[in-house]
Amino acid sequence: MKDRFAALRQKMVETQIVSRGIEDPRLLEILRRLPRHLYVPEDRWEEAYQDEPLAIGEGQTISQPYIVAYMTEVLKLGGGERVLEVGTGSGYQTAVLAEMAAEVFSVELIEKLSRRARETLTGLGYENIRFRVGDGSRGWPECAPYDGIIVTAAAEQVPSALPSQLKDGGRLILPVGTGAQDLVLIVRRGEDFLRSELLPVRFVPLVSVH
Ligand code: SAH
Repeated sequence: MKDRFAALRQKMVETQIVSRGIEDPRLLEILRRLPRHLYVPEDRWEEAYQDEPLAIGEGQTISQPYIVAYMTEVLKLGGGERVLEVGTGSGYQTAVLAEMAAEVFSVELIEKLSRRARETLTGLGYENIRFRVGDGSRGWPECAPYDGIIVTAAAEQVPSALPSQLKDGGRLILPVGTGAQDLVLIVRRGEDFLRSELLPVRFVPLVSVH
C-alpha cells in the first residue's frame, strides 16, 4: 500500500506540478515525499493525489496539489524563514511550509480542523509549527514580523492587518475576490507594498468575524 501511494505521488508531481512549470528543487523533493493522503479522511485516501481540491469536512477543502506548489514557490523560501499561514485546514500546506522554512505559525478559524491538523502533524513529528484557533485575517501580530504570509481562503480585499506583519522584503500570497478570484502577491519594500495579480483561482471564502 505504501508503494502504491508513493507511485501516485511521483505521478502527481510529474504530471501536475513539474509539467506546469514549478522548478524549486527543494519543493519538488518535499512534494515527492510527503504523504498527502494522511491529511484527508481515510475513505478518500485513493483520491488524495488527484488534480483537484478535496473535501476534508466542515465544508472545507484541501487545496489542489498544483496550487499548494505554486503558492509555496512564490514565497521563495530558502530554509531559515518564519512563515504565517492563515487557514490551516487539513494541515498539508502547513507541512510543506514546515519542511521549507524554519518556523510556521498557522491560524485556523474552525477548532475541530485545527485540532485534527495538529494531531496529524504532531504525529508525523513536526516540532516547528505553532497552531492557533481564531480569525487569521488579523494575522498573528504577537509573533510578527514574517518573511512570508500565505492565506488559503479568499478575501474580498487584502485584509489590512496582514501586509504590515511582513518583514522588509517579505512576501504575502493570497486569493482575492468574490466570484472570480486572483492569486495576489504583495512584496514589502520598506513602507511600499508592491502588488501583482498572478493567476485566476477558486478558494473557499475567508470568513470574516466581527
Ligand atoms: N491550506 C488548507 C486549505 C483549507 S481551506 C489545506 O490545503 O488543507 C481554507 C481554510 O481556511 C479552511 O479550513 C477554513 O476554515 C479556514 N478559514 C476561513 N476563514 C478563516 C479565517 N478568517 N481565519 C482562519 N482560518 C479561516
